[in-house]
Amino acid sequence: MYNSRVLKAVEPEFSAATVDRCVATIMNKRNFIRLFGTVIAGPFLSRLFAHASETKLKNWAGNLDYSTDRLYSANSVEEVRNYVKKQRQLKVLGTRHCFNNIADSRHSFLSLKPMDEVVALDPAAHTVTVNAGMTYGQLCPYLHSKGFAVHNLASLPHISIAGACSTATHGSGEKNGNLATAVSALEIVTAAGDIVKLSRQQDGQAFRGAVVGLGAVGVVTKVTLDIQPTFMMRQYVYENLPLAAVKDHFDAIEASAYSVSLFTDWQNQRFSEVWIKSRDGAGQAFDAIPEFFGATLAAKNLHPIAELSAENCTEQMGVPGPWFERLPHFRMGFTPSAGKELQSEYFVPRQHAVEAILAVERLRDQVTPHLLITEIRAIARDDLWLSPCYEQACVTIHFTWKQDWPAVRSLLPVIEKELAPFKARPHWGKLFTTPPGELKSVYTRLPDFIQLCKKYDPQGKFRNEFLSTNIFN
Ligand SMILES: Cc1cc2nc3c(=O)[nH]c(=O)nc-3n(C[C@H](O)[C@H](O)[C@H](O)COP(=O)(O)OP(=O)(O)OC[C@H]3O[C@@H](n4cnc5c(N)ncnc54)[C@H](O)[C@@H]3O)c2cc1C
Repeated sequence: MYNSRVLKAVEPEFSAATVDRCVATIMNKRNFIRLFGTVIAGPFLSRLFAHASETKLKNWAGNLDYSTDRLYSANSVEEVRNYVKKQRQLKVLGTRHCFNNIADSRHSFLSLKPMDEVVALDPAAHTVTVNAGMTYGQLCPYLHSKGFAVHNLASLPHISIAGACSTATHGSGEKNGNLATAVSALEIVTAAGDIVKLSRQQDGQAFRGAVVGLGAVGVVTKVTLDIQPTFMMRQYVYENLPLAAVKDHFDAIEASAYSVSLFTDWQNQRFSEVWIKSRDGAGQAFDAIPEFFGATLAAKNLHPIAELSAENCTEQMGVPGPWFERLPHFRMGFTPSAGKELQSEYFVPRQHAVEAILAVERLRDQVTPHLLITEIRAIARDDLWLSPCYEQACVTIHFTWKQDWPAVRSLLPVIEKELAPFKARPHWGKLFTTPPGELKSVYTRLPDFIQLCKKYDPQGKFRNEFLSTNIFN
């Protein structure tokens, strides 16, 4: 049973989620109860139903009202196929954590949320296959209980596996690829309602094009992920890392542990927090010395936004725990990040990391007033066409903004101009103003991706305004 504190924390997630299930004309009550019955009690459920008809379907952060409330929830691949065949245009919705209109539709939405089961665990092949409605929060405890792990996670476990991989969602760690790099096979329903299976082993190019598919290739109904033996981790936080240390020792800082995140508000020439996620095991553990490149080991758990409660964050202070309770910054069942916020993020080739960080630092007096926090992470290169790390190891410069879109919209071109010399690639699921022409020049496989989409979706059934503007323009 969830206590009131937890319920309060999850409620913002459901305020929008409620709407889609209830306003949505098609979803039946059985499905609704299945989706939410595990976390909410009866009276709360009635409140949600009563509230639903007054509210619009929104994304998680609430900054975007989707353009339709028509949502169909599928229970099976057959239901997906039938629905897709009947629709002229539609978009699949995951857990709605994107900040821009990449998932939006003016016509109709398809949710796979009821399809949240593990389909097969193959210990010999080191793979797990899941239905595409599953979230990392659902998968990870299961995997751990069976003795397995995935290689990395984003800052939050609340997101759907299919949605996260479709937008190249990432965690940190210079040797860790983004989450989509763990995908070894996909099952997709095409615009015609056919089932296509693509695997890393057998379908080289098409597979590498489809994994980070932005929802444009088809409806992903199953995802197979690489897994490895489960492992334990410890998390340490250091405070006040001097900017000078980042300038002089960036490579050593990034190489110091399995996953490293640097947080700053860009003021006072310092990074307020350094989050180090250390993997137990031979040759990998971090030695938690009291001082780390001039930063000091924290004496208590912290939130990346220092003013917020660390209660929502995963355990720190070197307390050992399983990988899925240390890799994300935020705990399942609690509000991740700040809640009311916007996010933007740019991927810069690793060799330009320090120059790019210094370029943004010069904008500090424009950036800080609108900022909640910046995070810098490192990600390994990969071979997925639309991954921002396609053929280049990257650092990411992320901005969690206050929810003031007019101010952020004016600022983004200023930041993008500073990062343009480094051929920065924006995160597909966050807010950016990079013009489509520039996207084409930095995402070099876009022409191939367009051809791939045309093969599986010749009439543009899965397109929306975001895709028409940024990809098919
Ligand atoms: C608080 C917070 C923290 C975040 N932290 C990180 C982070 O650490 N790292 C990071 O990289 N990102 C992060 N993000 C961004 C986020 O994880 C991604 O944008 C991700 O796409 C969210 O997945 P979703 O299921 O909510 O996607 P949605 O927003 O629902 O959909 C995203 C796209 O995926 C498509 N899609 C979804 N499911 C399917 C499917 N079954 N078949 C085909 N297409 C599908 C949709 O059509 C859409 O185009 C964060 C977001 C929030 C709100």
